[in-house]
Amino acid sequence: MKIVRSVADIKRASGSSGFVPTMGALHEGHLSLIRAAKSECDHVTVSIFVNPLQFGPGEDYERYPRREDEDAQACEEAGADIVFMPDAKKFTTGQGTSVHVSGVSELYEGLIRPGHFDGVATIVAKLFNLVRADYAYFGLKDRQQCAVVAKMVHELNFPISLRLMPIIREPDGLAMSSRNAYLSAEQRAIAPKLYEILERCRLAVRHAKSTVQVTSSLEKWTQTLKDFGFDVDYLALVDETTFQPTVKVGVHAVLIVAAYLGATRLIDNIPVLGH
Ligand code: AMP
Repeated sequence: MKIVRSVADIKRASGSSGFVPTMGALHEGHLSLIRAAKSECDHVTVSIFVNPLQFGPGEDYERYPRREDEDAQACEEAGADIVFMPDAKKFTTGQGTSVHVSGVSELYEGLIRPGHFDGVATIVAKLFNLVRADYAYFGLKDRQQCAVVAKMVHELNFPISLRLMPIIREPDGLAMSSRNAYLSAEQRAIAPKLYEILERCRLAVRHAKSTVQVTSSLEKWTQTLKDFGFDVDYLALVDETTFQPTVKVGVHAVLIVAAYLGATRLIDNIPVLGH
C-alpha cells in the first residue's frame, strides 16, 4: 500500500489513461495516435468499430476494409493495452438516443453527409462513457470531426481532454487514409495533387491583398482540381472552431478540401498560417 499526500502524487499514483477511437484498417496515421497516447499515458485503449451510424445510405459501410487480426497485432506493437472491438450489430442496434452538435456540424462534411456527425458524436459519447479515459486522441486529418467532438466535450462536460494530432502523410504528400486502398494505380498517381494544390492555394490565400482575392483564389484552385480530374465537393477557408466560412486569413483559418477521384472520396486540410 502507498500513502500519498500531494495532489500531484495522487494524480500520478492512479495513472493516466489514453483512448484512441478508430474504425480499423489501421495505418501509420492511426498508429501515430496510439504511439502518442502510449508516450503520454500509462494505459492505452484503442477501439476498432466500423460505426454504421456515421455512414449514409449508398456510402461504403459494407465494403469498408475490416482486418481484425492484423489490426490487433498493430495495436499491440504500437503500445495499446486494450483493444475494444464491440460487436458491429449489438453496439448500435436499437440506438434511440443520439447526440447532435449544432453549428459546427452543419456545413461541409455535415451538409454533404447528412447524419454523419450525429453518428460520430453518438458513438464517441458512448465510447467516452465506457472507456473513461483522461485523454482522447484524434487526428487532424478529420478536422471537422475534431471540432465537433471538441464542442461536444465542452458542452456536455465530458471529463476528458482532447489531444489533436498532426496529419500523417505518404512520402508524396497524400494524407494516409484507409480509403486510399480503393484508388486504382492511375488515381493513386493523381491523388497527391490534392495536397499539392492545397499548399498552393494556401500560399495564394496568404498573399491575398483583399477578401475578394481570397475568394477568387479558392475558385481558381477549385478549377485546377477539376482540371486534374477531381470531382470537388468543396475547397473552402473556414474557422477551425466553428467550421463556418471565413475570408479572414488569421491563426484560426484552415483550408479544407473534399473531392472524389472516381468513386473514392478524399479529404484533407491545412492551416493557412501553419506549417
Ligand atoms: P478512422 O479510423 O478513419 O475513424 O480514424 C481514426 C482516427 O485516426 C481519427 O481520429 C482520424 O482523424 C485519425 N487519422 C486517420 N488518418 C490519419 C492520418 N493520416 N493522420 C493522422 N490521423 C489520422
